[in-house]
Amino acid sequence: MSIIICPVCGKPLNTKEKPCLCEVGHSFDRAKEGYLNLLLSNQHKSRHPGDSPQSCKARRAFLSSGYYEPLAIFVASLLSDGTVLDACCGEGYYTSFMTGENRAVYGFDIAKDMIKLASKRDKSAEFFVAGINNIPVEEKSVDTLTHIFAPVNDSEFSRILKDDGIMIDVIPGADHLMGLKSILYDEPYKNPVSPLDSSLFRQQDEKTLKYDITAEGEDVMNLFHMTPYAYKTALTGEKKLAQVSSLRTSVEFVVRIYKKSIR
Ligand SMILES: [Zn+2]
Repeated sequence: MSIIICPVCGKPLNTKEKPCLCEVGHSFDRAKEGYLNLLLSNQHKSRHPGDSPQSCKARRAFLSSGYYEPLAIFVASLLSDGTVLDACCGEGYYTSFMTGENRAVYGFDIAKDMIKLASKRDKSAEFFVAGINNIPVEEKSVDTLTHIFAPVNDSEFSRILKDDGIMIDVIPGADHLMGLKSILYDEPYKNPVSPLDSSLFRQQDEKTLKYDITAEGEDVMNLFHMTPYAYKTALTGEKKLAQVSSLRTSVEFVVRIYKKSIR
C-alpha cells in the first residue's frame, strides 16, 4: 500500500494504475522518468518553483563526487525498517543511501528538475513533486522522516509521522563551509545553530559530524551553486572564488533526532 494520497481531495491514490487515480477520479500521469507530479498549480506562485536548473546540476555533480558520503551513510544508519520519507530530497543523493529490503522509501521536492534527476537514478524509491505545505501523504503513515538542509513545516511533519516515528533533521553546524565563506566574505560569520522552534516535537539525540574536504576543479563552483550563498554573495566574492582551483574547507553537520510530542 502506498502512503501517497490525492493532492486534490486527500483520498488514497492508486499509484499502481496508469494513470494513478483516486476514488473520486482525480488522475495523475507518471512522467517517463517514473515520478509523479503532485504539485497543484494553486500551491505555488512561481512557474518553476524550487531550486534553479543550474543549482540542480551543480548539486548532482558535487554530491556525486562523494564529499558528503559520510553524512549519507550516517543518516542511513539511523533508519529503522518500514516507511521512510525523505522530505525536500533534492536530486535524491541521500535518498539513494536509504533504500533497503524492508523499507518503502519515498522522496519529494518542490523542484521538478531535482525529482527528475532523482527518479532517473534510483528506481527503488518512489519520487514525487510536492511542497512541504501540502505533503500528499496519508496521516500517521511514516516511520522515519528525514529532512536534510531544508525548511521545516512542523505541523505537516507531525501529521504524517506515526506516533512512534522519528524525524531526523540535519542542519549546518557553526563551522560548515567556513573555508568557502572565508573566500567569499571579508568577515565570514559562523552559522547560527538554533534549536527547532516547535512544540510538536521533542529532541531525543544529537550528533555532530565534522571533517575537512578539498573540492577540486569544477566542484568548487558546483559547491558554491548548491549553497544559499549563490543567491546572496556580491559578484566580487563570486569572481574571487572562480579563480580558485582547489578549496579546502571544513564541513559540519548537526544531526538531530526527534520524536513527536504526544498530547
Ligand atoms: Zn482525488
